[in-house]
Amino acid sequence: MTIKDIIRKKKYGEKLTKEEIDFFVQGYTKGEIPDYQISPLLMAIYFQGMDSEETANLTDSMVHSGDQLDLSVIHGIKVDKHSTGGVGDKITFLVMPIMAELGLKTAKMSGRGLGHTGGTIDKLEAIPGFQTELPLDTFLKNVEEQGLAIASQTGSLAPADKKIYALRDVTETVDSIPLIASSIMSKKIASGADVIVLDVKVGSGAFMKNEEQARALAETMVNIGKSLGRKVCAVLTAMDQPLGREVGNACEVAEAIEILSGGGSEDEKEVAVEISAHMALLGGKFSDLDSARQEIKAILSEGRALKHLCKLVELQGGDVSFVEHPEKLMKGAVEHQVLSEKSGYIAELDAEKVGRAAALLGAGRMKKGDPIDFKAGVRILKKVGEEVKTGEPLFILRGEKGVKEAEQLILSAVQYSENKPKVGDAVIGVVD
Ligand code: URA
Repeated sequence: MTIKDIIRKKKYGEKLTKEEIDFFVQGYTKGEIPDYQISPLLMAIYFQGMDSEETANLTDSMVHSGDQLDLSVIHGIKVDKHSTGGVGDKITFLVMPIMAELGLKTAKMSGRGLGHTGGTIDKLEAIPGFQTELPLDTFLKNVEEQGLAIASQTGSLAPADKKIYALRDVTETVDSIPLIASSIMSKKIASGADVIVLDVKVGSGAFMKNEEQARALAETMVNIGKSLGRKVCAVLTAMDQPLGREVGNACEVAEAIEILSGGGSEDEKEVAVEISAHMALLGGKFSDLDSARQEIKAILSEGRALKHLCKLVELQGGDVSFVEHPEKLMKGAVEHQVLSEKSGYIAELDAEKVGRAAALLGAGRMKKGDPIDFKAGVRILKKVGEEVKTGEPLFILRGEKGVKEAEQLILSAVQYSENKPKVGDAVIGVVD
């Protein structure tokens, strides 16, 4: 078998065997096959697609390209979630403490921000002292004893994905369902959880811009997970406007604390309850979804999960006083109000533009390795369906750079209507 044979087969739309898939994945990971031969293969996959068996084999091969986390030393059910990437998405900060309160364990590997979307690891580092690189034995011990730990995804888990993703990024082959599905699922499978709930975002701020695409991606990922022996389901959630009212790093941690204390935005709570309810159901804590939802809503409104976030921060070296007094997180940030140019109702708030504005203020990276300004970000004062008058504040921008550019961009994210628009549900559907 040669790589040229494999490229030719896919070029003509033929199905690749498990051996052929293994040959190119392992060969590329080890550096035996060059970029210039994997690039046309990725483009051939992009145009010709892969069937479910090929996609599952691709995922399995990527899982076996590196280490896998062995969570068997931890007693009980290990649950995990993964979002396909959004703006203002603080769901991980809510779900992990909720799971701990329910007695389920989360050993979470998370990533940094990508493009206009935020990353959990960057957000956690806004808490002074918080360590996102943990020795494996400490990580496992914390999950066993306290029910939760979170660490930055290491390069040794699914290294094939790391290389293939970087190549896709520069060869215009990112938005391919088999390639996204195998990328996400290889990392999740290698992370070792028994239960995986996927939060598949749909809309302007998401990777999948419409429900049909999102559903197809969700079905592919769920099938992969099941074929590899995991309990898995996907929840489709709206990402037309940002989730909640804060977009950035420190400010998103502060908003998550507000929700864990019983307050906060309804859309964010709705998504957190739905994702948590599916995790708890698949994790065997409830026999039906409604009981799970009810208990989780009570946990949030009574502020019962907050203590687990405090524990997580304490165990990972963070200063817990920033969780107890979240106003400290943004103290000293330079603020700038953005005023409405019109009167009316907010009809649209393009999530991608809001995410890009936050990045311009310093909350995200313009290029690999850029430092983050943790206090930078956007507070959204008016969301879709809310009324505003000319000259009234729409946003508060926080940051010391890019303010003018961010203001222009964020104003272009807003569409007005004369009549109150219907606000869609935050949870769109479930694929299981
Ligand atoms: N997130 C991933 O991890 N991989 C993709 O391909 C897309 C989003």
